[in-house]
Amino acid sequence: MNDCIFCKIIAGQIPAKKVYEDDQMVAIEDIAPKAPLHLLLLPKRHFSNCLDMTEQDEATVGHLFRVAGQLATERGLSEGGFRLVQNNGVDAGQTVFHLHIHLLAGRELQWPPG
Ligand code: 5GP
Ligand code: ZN
Repeated sequence: MNDCIFCKIIAGQIPAKKVYEDDQMVAIEDIAPKAPLHLLLLPKRHFSNCLDMTEQDEATVGHLFRVAGQLATERGLSEGGFRLVQNNGVDAGQTVFHLHIHLLAGRELQWPPG
């Protein structure tokens, strides 16, 4: 039994604010936003992070990035910018072990991240 929370969101078993969906991925609003805009882009196929990624996932991960650009552009962010973040493992702060890209925008983002 897969008890991955993002797999359950993708399957519609637990609610989330979906802002985009296609055959390969969904994008949802983060439940605890760290910026005025905080989206999560999730591949439909479950894998933990880039350590667990196979060759068959390469095209989907590229797709996630292209859709991230699309979603940012639709929200008027192509001029001012936005950040894409993807955490790998506990020391990086990964808490949900289903690969996801964070899209953050709407405030001045610090660099380097904490
Ligand atoms: P990570 O720390 O693994 O890179 O990011 C996990 C993200 O998932 C966090 O920003 C957290 O707020 C978000 N999150 C955790 N559980 C849920 C949930 O049930 N629904 C939604 N929409 N976001 C979640
Ligand atoms: Zn999953």
